[in-house]
Amino acid sequence: MGHTLLILGDQLLREHPGLDGANRVITVESEAMLRRRPLHRQRAHLVRSGLRHLAAELRERDGLEVIEHRGAATLAEALAQHDGEELVAAIPNDLGARRALEGHGVRLVDSGQFLTAPDDFAAWARGRRRLRMEDFYREQRRSFGVLVDDAGEPLGGRWNFDAENRQPPPKDGLNAPEAWSPREDEIDAEVRADLDAAAARGVVFFGADVPRRFAVTPAEAHAVLEDFVAHRLREFGPWQDAMVEPGNPFLFHSLLSVPLNLGVIDPLTCVRAAEEAYHAHDLPLSSVEGFVRQVIGWREYVWGMYWLRAEQWPDANALRAELPLPAAYRGVESGWNCLDTVVAGVAQHGYAHHIERLMVLGTIGLTAGVVPWELVRWFQTAFVDGAEWVMAPNAAGMALFADGGEMVTKPYAAGGNYISKMSPHCKSCQYKPSEKHGERACPVTALYWDFVDRHTERLAANNRTARSVSTWRRFDQDTRDAVRARAASAREELDGG
Ligand SMILES: Cc1cc2nc3c(=O)[nH]c(=O)nc-3n(C[C@H](O)[C@H](O)[C@H](O)COP(=O)(O)OP(=O)(O)OC[C@H]3O[C@@H](n4cnc5c(N)ncnc54)[C@H](O)[C@@H]3O)c2cc1C
Repeated sequence: MGHTLLILGDQLLREHPGLDGANRVITVESEAMLRRRPLHRQRAHLVRSGLRHLAAELRERDGLEVIEHRGAATLAEALAQHDGEELVAAIPNDLGARRALEGHGVRLVDSGQFLTAPDDFAAWARGRRRLRMEDFYREQRRSFGVLVDDAGEPLGGRWNFDAENRQPPPKDGLNAPEAWSPREDEIDAEVRADLDAAAARGVVFFGADVPRRFAVTPAEAHAVLEDFVAHRLREFGPWQDAMVEPGNPFLFHSLLSVPLNLGVIDPLTCVRAAEEAYHAHDLPLSSVEGFVRQVIGWREYVWGMYWLRAEQWPDANALRAELPLPAAYRGVESGWNCLDTVVAGVAQHGYAHHIERLMVLGTIGLTAGVVPWELVRWFQTAFVDGAEWVMAPNAAGMALFADGGEMVTKPYAAGGNYISKMSPHCKSCQYKPSEKHGERACPVTALYWDFVDRHTERLAANNRTARSVSTWRRFDQDTRDAVRARAASAREELDGG
């Protein structure tokens, strides 16, 4: 007798390993999940739309019986309806879900959703003094033969083109071609009606509901990839870090995190498409390498780091941060143009690009002293691509230095001058990025120096940050007191005060 395959919302794999021998598939859309903490309305839509498109395909393609538990209060309630059946699922992508399925006696099989299995990453990490992404990335390039010559050496003679990929936006702005968008269908209409009904029953969502922007099926994912490679990859590199005013939030980014994280496109397919375009269309190596680095470097590294420290992430807090998540992250205006602009963009699109996440949302959280796991939970709430495996290492580890420097060599702390260089936000802000105290002092700058003050010992011991400590020590007492006072008022502003 065959088994019953449970397919989870972020494992929409068309070649799901559990399909072999399955005589029935089940999916669960639990309302309890929606009630646990507010989710971005678009995220809730994407996962449901993805699940329902998959269900329709499996019925049509494989003639399988697919039972969709749409009204289920909880996963347990849905599974209880399959008592006596052998339940199989792919190993979930986060520890909590994995434990829950193990607790229900579900047989777990490898998903094959990532290029690097957690055990292989652990083997790579074993015995190393430093777990740097760069070292991991070079091995990935060699083992998958991406942008390397026959001797395994990097094309162009360098592994890293970061220095060319950090350009500030031009003074007269930056225009990128509009990214490809999927066309909504009757499944989306049904999902929208169901989520409206859930909202009417009291489920609270974060963010706006807009026509679907992100891919949830393999066909859509390939269309996004093709569009990105043909129209935006060429300029991806130089403008990777640039931030702009609202209006063109996606710039030259790929919009692939949603379909990649849902499992509807394979990372190597994305990388090969970029590599092919490099050879066929003479795209700049710096742009192509920049993209490859994100997908087989950062993404796989973060996946490995999540599982390596899966038990520790929720309590990791190397800097002993104590500030609860400030209201500004939930959309209460702070009066800081950079933060308010990025948070408004997240509410509208469920999206911000990497540097907005790291150097605005992350850096302000770091220097203000936000408790890491609170920021992780918020990111999960607020983004269309949020998942614990990717948020924990990125938000807690990389942005908030919660792991004490296992992932990055120094905290990503910066003042307003960085934001001023990389974005137009400061031009129309009431505060001046170069001023650290006084009436027009930039709160981001004040928080930066206050951060240096609060962590002098750790920062002085690191040769990449020691200079800031020397500078801080040269400030006179009045300046230091004024900076501390401005930082204290900045924290109040963050909380709507
Ligand atoms: C604080 C913080 C939180 C983040 N949270 C998430 C998250 O919840 N989900 C998520 O998928 N990514 C997250 N990232 C990583 C990255 O910012 C997003 O993957 C990217 O912005 C998604 O947009 P894109 O698809 O247009 O990416 P592009 O800029 O076009 O990059 C290409 C792809 O590379 C991968 N990638 C790049 N950097 C990373 C990274 N650091 N970690 C993992 N994958 C990476 C993504 O799959 C992305 O689609 C976070 C980064 C930071 C600093």
